[in-house]
Amino acid sequence: MKIFEEQHEMFRAAVGAFVEREVMPHVEEWETAGRLPKAIFRRMGELGFLGVEYGEKYGGAGADLFTTVVLHEECARSRSGSFAMAVGVHTDMASPHLYWTGSEALKERYLPGMCRGETISAIAVTEPGGGSDVAAIRTRAVRDGDHYVINGSKTFITNGAMADVYFVAARVEGGEPAKRHRGISMFLVDRDTPGFRVSRTLDKMGMRASDTAELSFEDMRVPADTLLGREGAGFYEVMRVFQRERLVAGLHAVAMSERALEDTIAYVRERHAFGGPLAGKQVVRHTLAELGTSIEAARWLTYATCAKFASGEDCLREISMVKLFAAEMAQRVAYDCVQLHGGYGYMREYPIERFARDVRLLTIGGGTSEIMKEIIAKAMKL
Ligand SMILES: Cc1cc2nc3c(=O)[nH]c(=O)nc-3n(C[C@H](O)[C@H](O)[C@H](O)COP(=O)(O)OP(=O)(O)OC[C@H]3O[C@@H](n4cnc5c(N)ncnc54)[C@H](O)[C@@H]3O)c2cc1C
Repeated sequence: MKIFEEQHEMFRAAVGAFVEREVMPHVEEWETAGRLPKAIFRRMGELGFLGVEYGEKYGGAGADLFTTVVLHEECARSRSGSFAMAVGVHTDMASPHLYWTGSEALKERYLPGMCRGETISAIAVTEPGGGSDVAAIRTRAVRDGDHYVINGSKTFITNGAMADVYFVAARVEGGEPAKRHRGISMFLVDRDTPGFRVSRTLDKMGMRASDTAELSFEDMRVPADTLLGREGAGFYEVMRVFQRERLVAGLHAVAMSERALEDTIAYVRERHAFGGPLAGKQVVRHTLAELGTSIEAARWLTYATCAKFASGEDCLREISMVKLFAAEMAQRVAYDCVQLHGGYGYMREYPIERFARDVRLLTIGGGTSEIMKEIIAKAMKL
């Protein structure tokens, strides 16, 4: 079945060449440094890879969702989950809040810089008290004349230390149980706003080149016109953008797993044991066949859901299935691919070791597997 048109294949060739020449040679260095250079975003901006679906008047390319699909697949093939995630957060998890709900003035002011890769964005929803229960957000925004005053803290924020602009979820009204969902609003916050602080950069198991930070807001005054969309509608906006985020997570899971499988196939062809290549042993061949089948199943569930999403149909159930199935599939790929590498699979010098650590995040970030199952069960009217 043909999913991609000629323009997508041309775009794939361009992103793939960039990843091979300008990303892959630096992956180890970025992992050791624990961060990505901001220059890589500017370079992607120059090449026209950021904001591909945004209108041309804002510096975007006015392209379709499958162009975004290609971008994330190629980034995830870099053998750096960190790079793929940092880009994905900027293009499809944070900046969509501005594109879909921001005022014209805010879009004109910020989107061109985001498309050029000069203004990096982050999305700040999760709080130290909990991430799955988004409606329990405690960060508060209180209206004061033509400003809001925000107090609170956020944690686990990707691009948190390096971003220039943050999309912050805060509770504006009461917070009584019946109104939990309706009390939340999204704000665009400039990094240099007084009262904004990156309180800590977090050390983590994988995705080590992507910075993950804690943020704190102390009497942070933001102009009232940085409120995105309608006051109190933030929960629904977060949920809407989560759909895109979860599709991107599915794309990452598939493309990262595909690269890991290719690396493993190359390894078992080279590695000899008991008089022949590992690739000749039936148990090895069958494991690889099963992994290849699981990856294809996840890929086609993801593509079918992307097509439905692109047509504007409601696909909450399918997107949750993509996130659940692809992220869990990637865990199995990681386990088996490390196993097939034997002791070398446990060594830092082999990319499969990093893959296994990076991919572990996928069943947690952007909504855990358990939360995906809850959404699916509800959609099944259980
Ligand atoms: C590296 C990294 C990057 C991240 N980037 C961002 C970011 O950029 N922006 C952002 O806002 N957040 C980000 N997150 C946060 C992420 O989305 C949350 O970690 C995730 O949603 C889970 O929230 P939690 O960690 O508070 O876990 P909790 O909500 O405390 O959940 C703990 C466990 O309980 C389970 N659980 C919770 N509720 C239920 C239930 N009702 N039924 C069954 N089981 C349940 C969960 O599935 C999980 O297994 C990031 C996290 C990580 C680790």
